[in-house]
Amino acid sequence: MNTNHPSKIALVTGGSRGLGKNTAMALARKGVDVVVTYYSQKAEAEEVVREIERQGGKAAALQLDTSLVSSFDAFAASLREVLTAIWNRDSFDYLINNAGIGMNTPFPSTTEEQFDTLMNIHFKGVYFLTQRLLPLIADNGGIVNISTGLTRFSIEGYSAYASMKGAVEVMTRYWAKELGKRGIRVNAVAPGAIATDFGGGTLRDNPNVNAHIASITALGRAGQPDDIGGVIASLCTDEMGWVNAQRIEASGGMVL
Ligand code: NDP
Repeated sequence: MNTNHPSKIALVTGGSRGLGKNTAMALARKGVDVVVTYYSQKAEAEEVVREIERQGGKAAALQLDTSLVSSFDAFAASLREVLTAIWNRDSFDYLINNAGIGMNTPFPSTTEEQFDTLMNIHFKGVYFLTQRLLPLIADNGGIVNISTGLTRFSIEGYSAYASMKGAVEVMTRYWAKELGKRGIRVNAVAPGAIATDFGGGTLRDNPNVNAHIASITALGRAGQPDDIGGVIASLCTDEMGWVNAQRIEASGGMVL
Protein backbone atom coordinates (compact mmCIF):
# COMPACT_ATOMS: atom_id res chain seq x y z
CA MET A 1 0.00 0.00 0.00
CA ASN A 2 1.13 3.53 -0.76
CA THR A 3 1.42 5.28 2.59
CA ASN A 4 2.85 8.57 1.31
CA HIS A 5 -0.31 9.83 -0.37
CA PRO A 6 -3.94 9.64 0.64
CA SER A 7 -5.59 6.58 -0.88
CA LYS A 8 -7.68 6.82 -3.99
CA ILE A 9 -11.26 5.60 -3.61
CA ALA A 10 -13.24 3.43 -6.04
CA LEU A 11 -16.97 2.71 -6.10
CA VAL A 12 -17.70 -0.79 -7.42
CA THR A 13 -21.35 -1.53 -8.14
CA GLY A 14 -22.25 -5.17 -7.56
CA GLY A 15 -19.18 -5.67 -5.39
CA SER A 16 -20.69 -8.34 -3.16
CA ARG A 17 -19.94 -11.27 -5.47
CA GLY A 18 -18.33 -12.41 -8.70
CA LEU A 19 -16.38 -9.97 -10.83
CA GLY A 20 -17.22 -6.95 -8.66
CA LYS A 21 -15.89 -8.63 -5.53
CA ASN A 22 -12.77 -9.74 -7.39
CA THR A 23 -12.28 -6.19 -8.65
CA ALA A 24 -12.71 -4.75 -5.15
CA MET A 25 -10.04 -7.09 -3.80
CA ALA A 26 -7.68 -6.32 -6.72
CA LEU A 27 -8.14 -2.58 -6.14
CA ALA A 28 -7.43 -3.02 -2.42
CA ARG A 29 -4.19 -4.86 -3.27
CA LYS A 30 -3.17 -1.76 -5.27
CA GLY A 31 -3.86 0.46 -2.25
CA VAL A 32 -7.15 1.81 -3.62
CA ASP A 33 -9.93 1.99 -0.99
CA VAL A 34 -13.34 0.72 -2.06
CA VAL A 35 -17.04 1.34 -1.58
CA VAL A 36 -18.90 -1.75 -2.78
CA THR A 37 -22.60 -1.84 -3.50
CA TYR A 38 -24.88 -4.83 -3.18
CA TYR A 39 -28.46 -5.41 -4.25
CA SER A 40 -29.66 -8.08 -1.80
CA GLN A 41 -26.55 -9.86 -0.46
CA LYS A 42 -25.68 -7.51 2.41
CA ALA A 43 -23.73 -10.11 4.41
CA GLU A 44 -21.53 -10.96 1.41
CA ALA A 45 -20.81 -7.26 0.82
CA GLU A 46 -19.93 -6.76 4.48
CA GLU A 47 -17.54 -9.72 4.27
CA VAL A 48 -15.79 -8.02 1.33
CA VAL A 49 -15.43 -4.90 3.49
CA ARG A 50 -13.97 -6.92 6.38
CA GLU A 51 -11.54 -8.70 4.06
CA ILE A 52 -10.26 -5.37 2.71
CA GLU A 53 -9.95 -4.02 6.25
CA ARG A 54 -8.00 -7.13 7.29
CA GLN A 55 -5.56 -6.30 4.48
CA GLY A 56 -5.09 -2.79 5.83
CA GLY A 57 -7.40 -0.88 3.48
CA LYS A 58 -10.58 1.04 4.12
CA ALA A 59 -13.94 0.03 2.68
CA ALA A 60 -17.69 0.42 3.03
CA ALA A 61 -20.82 -1.27 1.67
CA LEU A 62 -24.02 0.43 0.47
CA GLN A 63 -27.28 -0.95 -0.89
CA LEU A 64 -28.13 -0.01 -4.48
CA ASP A 65 -30.62 -1.13 -7.11
CA THR A 66 -29.04 0.01 -10.37
CA SER A 67 -32.37 -0.42 -12.17
CA LEU A 68 -34.15 2.15 -9.99
CA VAL A 69 -33.32 5.64 -11.26
CA SER A 70 -35.64 7.24 -8.69
CA SER A 71 -33.39 5.92 -5.89
CA PHE A 72 -30.16 7.47 -7.18
CA ASP A 73 -30.49 10.80 -5.37
CA ALA A 74 -30.81 9.01 -2.04
CA PHE A 75 -27.92 6.71 -2.97
CA ALA A 76 -25.71 9.70 -3.80
CA ALA A 77 -26.58 11.26 -0.44
CA SER A 78 -25.66 8.03 1.39
CA LEU A 79 -22.42 7.79 -0.56
CA ARG A 80 -21.55 11.38 0.32
CA GLU A 81 -22.09 10.60 4.02
CA VAL A 82 -19.87 7.53 3.86
CA LEU A 83 -17.10 9.41 2.00
CA THR A 84 -17.13 12.11 4.66
CA ALA A 85 -17.33 9.74 7.62
CA ILE A 86 -14.61 7.29 6.53
CA TRP A 87 -12.33 9.35 4.30
CA ASN A 88 -13.16 12.96 5.17
CA ARG A 89 -13.67 13.56 1.45
CA ASP A 90 -16.57 14.72 -0.68
CA SER A 91 -15.50 12.85 -3.79
CA PHE A 92 -14.20 9.51 -5.02
CA ASP A 93 -11.84 8.68 -7.87
CA TYR A 94 -13.02 5.65 -9.85
CA LEU A 95 -16.48 4.40 -10.72
CA ILE A 96 -16.74 0.76 -11.80
CA ASN A 97 -20.16 0.11 -13.37
CA ASN A 98 -20.20 -3.65 -12.86
CA ALA A 99 -23.55 -4.69 -11.35
CA GLY A 100 -25.60 -6.88 -13.64
CA ILE A 101 -27.53 -10.03 -14.29
CA GLY A 102 -27.35 -12.69 -16.97
CA MET A 103 -30.46 -13.67 -18.89
CA ASN A 104 -30.65 -15.99 -21.87
CA THR A 105 -33.72 -14.92 -23.86
CA PRO A 106 -34.10 -16.34 -27.40
CA PHE A 107 -35.17 -13.52 -29.70
CA PRO A 108 -38.56 -15.06 -30.72
CA SER A 109 -39.70 -15.38 -27.10
CA THR A 110 -38.06 -12.40 -25.33
CA THR A 111 -40.77 -10.56 -23.42
CA GLU A 112 -41.02 -6.80 -23.01
CA GLU A 113 -40.57 -7.33 -19.26
CA GLN A 114 -37.29 -9.22 -19.76
CA PHE A 115 -36.09 -6.59 -22.21
CA ASP A 116 -36.95 -3.77 -19.80
CA THR A 117 -35.24 -5.53 -16.87
CA LEU A 118 -32.04 -5.92 -18.87
CA MET A 119 -32.27 -2.37 -20.19
CA ASN A 120 -32.88 -0.83 -16.78
CA ILE A 121 -30.00 -2.64 -15.06
CA HIS A 122 -27.42 -2.67 -17.83
CA PHE A 123 -28.06 0.51 -19.80
CA LYS A 124 -30.50 3.10 -18.43
CA GLY A 125 -29.42 2.59 -14.83
CA VAL A 126 -25.73 2.85 -15.70
CA TYR A 127 -26.36 6.00 -17.72
CA PHE A 128 -28.29 7.88 -15.05
CA LEU A 129 -26.37 6.55 -12.04
CA THR A 130 -23.16 7.82 -13.59
CA GLN A 131 -24.82 11.14 -14.49
CA ARG A 132 -26.01 11.51 -10.90
CA LEU A 133 -22.56 10.65 -9.47
CA LEU A 134 -20.59 12.95 -11.79
CA PRO A 135 -20.38 15.76 -9.21
CA LEU A 136 -18.86 13.25 -6.76
CA ILE A 137 -16.22 11.90 -9.16
CA ALA A 138 -12.93 13.72 -8.71
CA ASP A 139 -11.29 15.42 -11.68
CA ASN A 140 -8.59 13.18 -13.22
CA GLY A 141 -10.45 10.10 -12.04
CA GLY A 142 -11.87 7.32 -14.16
CA ILE A 143 -14.88 5.25 -15.10
CA VAL A 144 -14.80 1.59 -16.14
CA ASN A 145 -17.96 0.15 -17.65
CA ILE A 146 -18.30 -3.62 -17.78
CA SER A 147 -19.39 -4.89 -21.18
CA THR A 148 -19.12 -8.42 -22.57
CA GLY A 149 -17.40 -10.44 -25.27
CA LEU A 150 -20.91 -10.96 -26.65
CA THR A 151 -20.80 -7.53 -28.32
CA ARG A 152 -18.06 -8.85 -30.67
CA PHE A 153 -19.35 -12.39 -31.22
CA SER A 154 -22.87 -13.80 -31.02
CA ILE A 155 -24.19 -16.69 -28.96
CA GLU A 156 -27.86 -17.62 -29.25
CA GLY A 157 -30.17 -16.16 -26.64
CA TYR A 158 -28.25 -12.99 -25.84
CA SER A 159 -29.71 -10.52 -28.34
CA ALA A 160 -31.29 -8.35 -25.63
CA TYR A 161 -28.48 -8.63 -23.07
CA ALA A 162 -25.70 -8.03 -25.58
CA SER A 163 -27.55 -5.10 -27.18
CA MET A 164 -27.56 -3.31 -23.82
CA LYS A 165 -23.84 -3.95 -23.48
CA GLY A 166 -23.31 -2.70 -27.03
CA ALA A 167 -25.01 0.51 -25.96
CA VAL A 168 -22.65 0.65 -22.98
CA GLU A 169 -19.67 0.53 -25.33
CA VAL A 170 -21.06 3.40 -27.42
CA MET A 171 -21.77 5.52 -24.37
CA THR A 172 -18.26 4.76 -23.05
CA ARG A 173 -16.83 6.53 -26.11
CA TYR A 174 -19.22 9.48 -25.79
CA TRP A 175 -18.57 9.91 -22.07
CA ALA A 176 -14.81 9.84 -22.71
CA LYS A 177 -15.29 12.68 -25.19
CA GLU A 178 -17.39 14.79 -22.83
CA LEU A 179 -15.52 14.08 -19.60
CA GLY A 180 -12.00 14.42 -21.00
CA LYS A 181 -12.07 18.11 -20.16
CA ARG A 182 -12.16 17.07 -16.49
CA GLY A 183 -9.35 14.58 -17.00
CA ILE A 184 -11.75 11.70 -16.44
CA ARG A 185 -10.92 8.61 -18.53
CA VAL A 186 -13.72 6.24 -19.53
CA ASN A 187 -13.07 2.71 -20.73
CA ALA A 188 -15.02 -0.52 -21.13
CA VAL A 189 -13.78 -3.96 -20.10
CA ALA A 190 -15.42 -6.81 -22.00
CA PRO A 191 -15.01 -10.15 -20.21
CA GLY A 192 -15.47 -13.47 -21.97
CA ALA A 193 -17.49 -16.15 -20.20
CA ILE A 194 -16.43 -16.21 -16.55
CA ALA A 195 -17.42 -18.81 -13.95
CA THR A 196 -19.46 -16.82 -11.40
CA ASP A 197 -23.08 -16.89 -10.14
CA PHE A 198 -23.95 -15.08 -13.40
CA GLY A 199 -26.88 -16.61 -15.31
CA GLY A 200 -27.54 -19.09 -12.50
CA GLY A 201 -23.89 -20.20 -12.38
CA THR A 202 -24.29 -22.45 -15.44
CA LEU A 203 -20.75 -22.02 -16.73
CA ARG A 204 -19.28 -22.80 -13.31
CA ASP A 205 -21.61 -25.71 -12.47
CA ASN A 206 -22.38 -27.41 -15.80
CA PRO A 207 -19.34 -29.41 -17.05
CA ASN A 208 -20.69 -29.57 -20.62
CA VAL A 209 -21.10 -25.80 -20.87
CA ASN A 210 -17.71 -25.31 -19.25
CA ALA A 211 -16.03 -27.69 -21.73
CA HIS A 212 -17.74 -26.01 -24.68
CA ILE A 213 -16.52 -22.56 -23.62
CA ALA A 214 -13.00 -23.96 -23.12
CA SER A 215 -13.14 -25.43 -26.64
CA ILE A 216 -13.89 -22.05 -28.23
CA THR A 217 -11.26 -20.18 -26.20
CA ALA A 218 -7.68 -19.89 -27.48
CA LEU A 219 -6.22 -20.32 -24.00
CA GLY A 220 -8.24 -23.52 -23.61
CA ARG A 221 -10.35 -22.94 -20.50
CA ALA A 222 -13.28 -20.92 -19.21
CA GLY A 223 -12.52 -17.65 -17.43
CA GLN A 224 -12.29 -17.25 -13.64
CA PRO A 225 -12.98 -14.08 -11.63
CA ASP A 226 -9.21 -13.72 -11.05
CA ASP A 227 -8.84 -13.24 -14.81
CA ILE A 228 -10.87 -10.03 -14.66
CA GLY A 229 -10.50 -8.08 -11.39
CA GLY A 230 -6.88 -7.19 -12.04
CA VAL A 231 -7.66 -5.95 -15.56
CA ILE A 232 -10.28 -3.55 -14.20
CA ALA A 233 -8.06 -2.47 -11.30
CA SER A 234 -5.14 -1.83 -13.66
CA LEU A 235 -7.23 0.79 -15.45
CA CYS A 236 -7.43 2.65 -12.12
CA THR A 237 -3.72 3.45 -12.08
CA ASP A 238 -1.56 6.28 -13.38
CA GLU A 239 0.29 3.77 -15.61
CA MET A 240 -2.90 3.47 -17.68
CA GLY A 241 -3.41 7.24 -17.69
CA TRP A 242 -3.28 7.59 -21.46
CA VAL A 243 -5.74 4.76 -22.15
CA ASN A 244 -9.10 6.34 -22.86
CA ALA A 245 -12.33 5.47 -24.71
CA GLN A 246 -11.21 1.87 -25.25
CA ARG A 247 -12.98 -1.49 -25.25
CA ILE A 248 -10.56 -3.93 -23.66
CA GLU A 249 -11.61 -7.54 -24.07
CA ALA A 250 -10.44 -10.05 -21.47
CA SER A 251 -11.64 -13.39 -22.79
CA GLY A 252 -8.58 -15.56 -23.22
CA GLY A 253 -9.23 -15.24 -26.95
CA MET A 254 -12.81 -16.46 -27.18
CA VAL A 255 -14.32 -17.15 -30.63
CA LEU A 256 -11.37 -15.88 -32.66
P1 NDP B 1 -22.75 -12.14 -10.35
O1 NDP B 1 -24.11 -12.70 -10.54
O2 NDP B 1 -21.68 -13.00 -9.77
O3 NDP B 1 -22.83 -10.81 -9.44
C1 NDP B 1 -23.77 -9.81 -9.77
C2 NDP B 1 -23.58 -8.61 -8.89
O4 NDP B 1 -24.48 -7.58 -9.33
C3 NDP B 1 -23.89 -8.87 -7.43
O5 NDP B 1 -23.04 -8.08 -6.65
C4 NDP B 1 -25.34 -8.40 -7.30
O6 NDP B 1 -25.69 -7.97 -5.98
C5 NDP B 1 -25.34 -7.22 -8.25
N1 NDP B 1 -26.68 -6.92 -8.78
C6 NDP B 1 -27.54 -7.75 -9.43
N2 NDP B 1 -28.67 -7.09 -9.77
C7 NDP B 1 -28.54 -5.82 -9.32
C8 NDP B 1 -29.36 -4.67 -9.33
N3 NDP B 1 -30.60 -4.67 -9.87
N4 NDP B 1 -28.89 -3.54 -8.78
C9 NDP B 1 -27.66 -3.52 -8.23
N5 NDP B 1 -26.82 -4.56 -8.16
C10 NDP B 1 -27.27 -5.71 -8.71
O7 NDP B 1 -22.34 -11.59 -11.81
P2 NDP B 1 -20.89 -11.32 -12.44
O8 NDP B 1 -19.96 -10.89 -11.39
O9 NDP B 1 -20.52 -12.47 -13.28
O10 NDP B 1 -21.22 -10.11 -13.43
C11 NDP B 1 -20.76 -8.80 -13.19
C12 NDP B 1 -20.83 -8.01 -14.48
O11 NDP B 1 -20.03 -8.62 -15.48
C13 NDP B 1 -22.23 -7.87 -15.08
O12 NDP B 1 -22.40 -6.57 -15.59
C14 NDP B 1 -22.22 -8.89 -16.21
O13 NDP B 1 -23.14 -8.54 -17.20
C15 NDP B 1 -20.78 -8.78 -16.67
N6 NDP B 1 -20.26 -9.93 -17.38
C16 NDP B 1 -20.23 -11.18 -16.80
C17 NDP B 1 -19.74 -12.25 -17.50
C18 NDP B 1 -19.70 -13.62 -16.91
O14 NDP B 1 -19.56 -14.60 -17.71
N7 NDP B 1 -19.78 -13.80 -15.61
C19 NDP B 1 -19.22 -12.11 -18.87
C20 NDP B 1 -19.25 -10.75 -19.36
C21 NDP B 1 -19.77 -9.73 -18.65
P3 NDP B 1 -26.19 -9.05 -4.85
O15 NDP B 1 -24.98 -9.91 -4.54
O16 NDP B 1 -26.62 -8.24 -3.69
O17 NDP B 1 -27.29 -9.83 -5.50
